[in-house]
Amino acid sequence: RETRAPRRGPGPGPGPGPGPGRRCSRTNGWSWPPHPLQLLAWLLYVFFAVAGFGVFVPLLPAHWIPAGYICTGVTFSAHLLVHVLAVSVDPADRNVRLKADRGPPPAFDRTRRAHVIENCHCFLCQVDVGSKSKHC
Ligand SMILES: [Zn+2]
Repeated sequence: RETRAPRRGPGPGPGPGPGPGRRCSRTNGWSWPPHPLQLLAWLLYVFFAVAGFGVFVPLLPAHWIPAGYICTGVTFSAHLLVHVLAVSVDPADRNVRLKADRGPPPAFDRTRRAHVIENCHCFLCQVDVGSKSKHC
């Protein structure tokens, strides 16, 4: 099984290229700097919380307002819990997590290899990984 290296464009994604813009690999969603889509996810959560609890629920008929707050509150709380759990998990392969040195990933030489992961071995991390590993 082979996994292609992510394309490094001019976008804000992490890039292993040389120079001052080189970034460390992320361990989870709390790693700095955040990706714009992470910021968008948090901003949308706050937006829908404000819109739901501050605008839509108060507009319900009076006898439906408690149900609106309870149902929406349970849903938003569950979503927040799952969101925080998903952000806090380190999705790297177990062997990558066990590797002591997890500094910035080296530059990937496309002239030597077509894929970062070939035959369940990551050539950036220099560790064997599972067949479903998608890291790097
Ligand atoms: Zn790797």
